[in-house]
Amino acid sequence: MEISAIASGSSGNCIYVSSGGTGILIDAGITGKRIVSNLQELACTPERDLQAILVTHEHHDHVSGVGVLARKFGLDVWANTPTWEGMKPYVGRIPEKQQKVFASSNSFVIGDLQVTAFRTSHDSREPVGFLIDNGQKKLAVATDTGVMTSQMLTELKEAEYLILEANHDLAMLQGGRYPWPLKKRIMSDQGHLSNAASAAVVEFLVRHGKVCQGGVALGHLSQENNRPELALDTVCSRLTQAGIIPGRDVKVGLARRDRRTALFQAG
Ligand SMILES: [Zn+2]
Ligand SMILES: [Zn+2]
Repeated sequence: MEISAIASGSSGNCIYVSSGGTGILIDAGITGKRIVSNLQELACTPERDLQAILVTHEHHDHVSGVGVLARKFGLDVWANTPTWEGMKPYVGRIPEKQQKVFASSNSFVIGDLQVTAFRTSHDSREPVGFLIDNGQKKLAVATDTGVMTSQMLTELKEAEYLILEANHDLAMLQGGRYPWPLKKRIMSDQGHLSNAASAAVVEFLVRHGKVCQGGVALGHLSQENNRPELALDTVCSRLTQAGIIPGRDVKVGLARRDRRTALFQAG
């Protein structure tokens, strides 16, 4: 299973997962054109190698390229019913046979991949993250969540590979220029995970999950309220204080906001 982040952050999200003959995107929140040129650079021919787009939630930074790509390449689009309702105005007409619906917390199969959706905590209709299993290794994607719930942790513990939100540094957000209502929204239980919250999750998963066998990529970093080095440093410092050596005991990396990052080669 090969995992790349084509974009990750509030200006757009798109993760490409390929395993055997199956290729999927998790979200498509940048232009279709940019996604296609990135896929081509990854030696992925969408007509042949791509089957589906999974949608976490209907926010613009996750769906803006969904309609274009679905129509152009005949891709299946998977979302839960509330997300379908929320995104319909933004994705245009998608042929009915390509409209696939899952129930959050259920599993479904796309080619070689088994996908399990799990609820996250965010200000959209019914946001989810995904656990993706190729029969050998599991990848979890958990971004756009204000808190980490015990139900989410149960799923994340299963994954050797993890893309985890580290959206903002709390001090940068609080001292920054965002208007107060927006700050409040981001900090709320339905907002985004801070670097410190993300660090606590990584420490927990090193102790109780399988992430030491694979690695963690921090993602969905805010352009305004975070810096890549700061996100990485917050997580690594917490691990070090807990007696866990980053790089030796667990790999920790970053999904860049504005350029493609090769994240994992997983089993
Ligand atoms: Zn987002
Ligand atoms: Zn969102």
